[in-house]
Amino acid sequence: MTTLVIAEHDNAQLKGATLNAVAAAAKIGGDVHVLVAGANARAVADQAAAAAGVAKVLLADAPQLADGLAENVAAQVLAVASGYSHILFPATASGKNVAPRVAAKLDVAQISDIIGVESADTFQRPIYAGNAIATVQSADAVKVITVRTTGFDAVAAQGGSGAVEEIAAVADSGLSTFVGREVAKSDRPELAGARVVVSGGRGLGSAENFKILDPLADKLGAALGASRAAVDAGYAPNDWQVGQTGKIVAPQLYVAVGISGAIQHLAGMKDSKVIVAINKDPEAPIFGVADYGLVGDLFQVVPELTSAL
Ligand code: FAD
Repeated sequence: MTTLVIAEHDNAQLKGATLNAVAAAAKIGGDVHVLVAGANARAVADQAAAAAGVAKVLLADAPQLADGLAENVAAQVLAVASGYSHILFPATASGKNVAPRVAAKLDVAQISDIIGVESADTFQRPIYAGNAIATVQSADAVKVITVRTTGFDAVAAQGGSGAVEEIAAVADSGLSTFVGREVAKSDRPELAGARVVVSGGRGLGSAENFKILDPLADKLGAALGASRAAVDAGYAPNDWQVGQTGKIVAPQLYVAVGISGAIQHLAGMKDSKVIVAINKDPEAPIFGVADYGLVGDLFQVVPELTSAL
C-alpha cells in the first residue's frame, strides 16, 4: 500500500496545503510519495523530499506542466497511478480541478473533502455544510481523495529525507492552453493558511468603513476575511469570503467583527482554534461558537482594541 500526494506549488515554493495532505496520507498508512508536476521545479521537489514522512518524490519537469493545466497534470498523475493504492490532492482550487479527471479516467468514485481517516478504506467527510459528518467506505481498488486541509495538522516541512526521482513528463495534451494569470497582490498572509484572520460582516456598513479592520489586522499580522453579505454588498473582494461557498479556514485566532454567525458562515470558520466575536447584538448566533465575545459597537470597540494591542 503506497499513497501518492499531488503537490501544490508555484514551481518555486511548495504550498503548505501539500503538507496537510501528506499528514492525511500518513494516517492511511504505508509509504507516502509526492508527485511534483511542474517546470524548473527542482526546488519544490527538494522541499517535498524534506517534509516529514515522505519516502519518495517523483519529479516530472517540463514546460507543459508549468501552469498546472488540469488536463496535463491529470495525464501525469495517470501515467504513474498504477503503482498506488491511494491518490491524494489538497481540496484546493487546483486540487479540485485535477482530481475528478483522474477519478473519472480510473473509473472510480472520488472521495471528496475528507477530514478524517478511520482506516485505509474508510474516511470522514462533512456534509450539509458541516452539520453532519458522513463516514464513507470505498471498495474501489484505487482511492482518489481530496483532503480538506484544515482537517489535518501539517507535517513538519523539515526533517524528512525522501529521495527525488525524475520521471518522464507526459506530452502536452493540446486540450487547453495557458493564457494568463491575475494574482491579487497583498502584503498580508494568504487567507486559507493564515494563523490569524480578521473578518468583517454586514455590520461594517460600507467598503470605506471596512478599512477600520486594517490597523487591527496589521497589529495581529492577520489575513482579512469577510462574510458573504459583506462581499455581496461590495464591502470586500470576493476572494475574502469565508464560509460554505467561500474559503474554509481554521486559524489559531479568528476575529469576527459585525458578523451575525449564520450557519453558512460558521461552516467556513468554526474549526478555528480561538474565536473572538465583536457584535452589538448579545443574541447574535456567533456568540454561540465564540471563545471570547465582546458586545458593543464595533466602531468604538475595534479602535480601542487596536490601540490596546
Ligand atoms: P448579517 O447577518 O446581516 O449580520 C450583521 C451583524 O452585524 C449583525 O449580527 C449585527 O448585530 C452586527 N452589527 C451591525 N452593526 C454593528 C455595529 N455597529 N457594531 C457591532 N455589530 C454590528 N455567508 C457567508 O458568510 N459565507 C458563505 O460562504 C455563505 N454561503 C452561503 C450559501 C448559501 C447557499 C446561502 C443560502 C447563504 C450563504 N451565506 C454565506 C449567507 C449567510 O446565510 C448570511 O446571510 C451571511 O453570512 C450574513 O452575513 P453577516 O453576518 O455579515 O450579515
